[in-house]
Amino acid sequence: MEPNILILGAPGAGKGTQSSNIVEEFGVEHVTTGDALRENKHMETEYGTPASFMDEGELVPDPVVNEIVEAALSQADGYVLDGYPRNLDQAEFLSEITDLDVVLYLDVDEDELVGRLTGRRVCSECGATFHVDFNPPEEEGVCDECGGELYQRDDDTEETARERIRVYEENTAPVVEFYDERGELARIDGEQSLEGVWEDVKAAIESSA
Ligand code: ADP
Ligand code: ADP
Ligand code: ZN
Repeated sequence: MEPNILILGAPGAGKGTQSSNIVEEFGVEHVTTGDALRENKHMETEYGTPASFMDEGELVPDPVVNEIVEAALSQADGYVLDGYPRNLDQAEFLSEITDLDVVLYLDVDEDELVGRLTGRRVCSECGATFHVDFNPPEEEGVCDECGGELYQRDDDTEETARERIRVYEENTAPVVEFYDERGELARIDGEQSLEGVWEDVKAAIESSA
């Protein structure tokens, strides 16, 4: 049985970046509500399209994301869950549908996050993530992994980044406390280099096995 891993952290903390490492090292599936929603951005739901929330930096309504997560987790033999739960009701729902082996929290100061988000570039082909200053591709605008074209997400503008961080503080910071109070949280210094963070993430997963 592969481990069930939850990775928490503010927007831009490095969840997606470290999830890629986890997938490669531990052979689990990457389950990420952000990517799933971006693939279905213009899907009509009774609440409106995901895009109408995402482009404003607001949370997509719980029923929409809960359904995505339940379907994805039921098909995964071991996973790293990234971008969910983002509020306490989602955390409650998650505890009803699965058991977690490890909960990681990437701790990054708010001042650092906006610069990470506005400099983020994502591959349109394979989803690999880069940063114009902190993790630049060898050739500007081109993915190192697959040669695909890099783009900037619609919500990675400074204004929307700040709103997402505010929404995180209001809704998702309590989720971190929820796991912390249960003594389940592995807190990791997310302000280290990419390699430094990865060493700590790997060690935390290995010590939970
Ligand atoms: P999240 O999924 O938590 O929103 P990402 O993994 O997409 O975060 O990272 C956000 C941005 O910060 C990306 O551009 C990424 O390359 C960069 N980044 C990730 N980890 C680090 C780090 N340890 N130091 C500097 N930049 C980082
Ligand atoms: P980041 O990598 O910056 O943390 P994500 O890609 O996880 O951002 O999420 C992008 C957007 O998708 C969020 O701002 C929100 O609108 C929506 N979203 C993602 N996951 C959830 C969730 N669990 N609940 C509600 N909305 C979500
Ligand atoms: Zn690529």
